[in-house]
Amino acid sequence: MPAKNITRTPDDIAWRDRLRYFESSNDALVETIRELVEIESPSDNKLAGDRMGGLLASKFEALGGRARVHRAEDYADNVQINFPGGDNREPVLLLGHFDTVYPVGTLSTMPCHIANGRLHGPGVLDMKSGIALMLSVIKALQVWHGGLPRAVTVFLVSDEEVGSSSSRQITEGLARKSAAVLVLEPAAGIRGAVKTARKGVGDYTLTVRGVAAHAGLDPGTGHSAILELARQIAVISKFNNLKQGISVNPGVIRGGTRTNVVAAEAVVEVDVRIKSAKQAAGLDRKMHALRPFDKHCRLGIEGGINRLPMERNAGVAALYRKARAIAHQIDWKLEEAAVGGGSDGNFTAGIGVPTLDGLGGVGEGAHALHENIVISELPRRALLLAGMIESV
Ligand SMILES: [Zn+2]
Repeated sequence: MPAKNITRTPDDIAWRDRLRYFESSNDALVETIRELVEIESPSDNKLAGDRMGGLLASKFEALGGRARVHRAEDYADNVQINFPGGDNREPVLLLGHFDTVYPVGTLSTMPCHIANGRLHGPGVLDMKSGIALMLSVIKALQVWHGGLPRAVTVFLVSDEEVGSSSSRQITEGLARKSAAVLVLEPAAGIRGAVKTARKGVGDYTLTVRGVAAHAGLDPGTGHSAILELARQIAVISKFNNLKQGISVNPGVIRGGTRTNVVAAEAVVEVDVRIKSAKQAAGLDRKMHALRPFDKHCRLGIEGGINRLPMERNAGVAALYRKARAIAHQIDWKLEEAAVGGGSDGNFTAGIGVPTLDGLGGVGEGAHALHENIVISELPRRALLLAGMIESV
């Protein structure tokens, strides 16, 4: 609650005092994170996701925001919350997602708990702690300034882990109206670096159709889709160019029906990563230029780049410099990192809106059994987010 209605500028309030403020409210923040983790919200379960989205909307509304729900059919509804600000600067967009990769029931084998100063649980790092940080920081800014010093838009996405098909257009539209985008995805590594570059991500599915035959009676008339697929995979794997930041992973294969049948069909799903947007077209051309070795086999290729890379352009670099300067106020050397995974930050950086990613929790094991955050890192993450909202 805003105790006093004194408007103070950031400079009036010592950064150390701010850190102490967040330290003293850290238990409450951890409780909020735990509450969010204990409501399971996998991307592919609309009912569960909508429950999470509804709770989040009400939590942000309790801080004075106005929620707007964007209906989605296949995934949970996406939730936007607008906060008016004290000046007429363009809003800052705080971007996050409340879907997780864990199916309902995961909590029974992966319960939310604290051990060795860390909070464990499904989605705690990626990225329910990031959403809880937004709540905590908005409240703090209101206390310090007697209201938010500038307009803030919060956008919470329901389908980030599965490619953001229902939310991408909204994310990009909101970003275009914003001064900057701050993405509350997990920090990079245990040292808590922010993310200033992300690879672009895509996937392709190659389907081979061969000619089936009895493997014993008629081996000469068959044309094996599996054999053809194996040769194609060898070609595709040569598209890897780690030096240039291009990686190609044939990660899933399927095909054939029985050992005594020459396979009529075989499929490979390929994950691709690129470092710069320029690489997308070249890789796509190569994938579509695949031709069968066995002329009796046919190839079908589908897919493409879903998220273009988040490149470290001038806007991104400027945001990082600002973040580093804020961290410096409490003698914290904030590092930056380039990472291989994509996020919705790729979309907003891709349309030219200054974006800084990885401002959320610090921990380990995103998408894994030991997923956790370091509790003692939360106060300075909150301080950094508060400073960024004020100054970008
Ligand atoms: Zn995430």
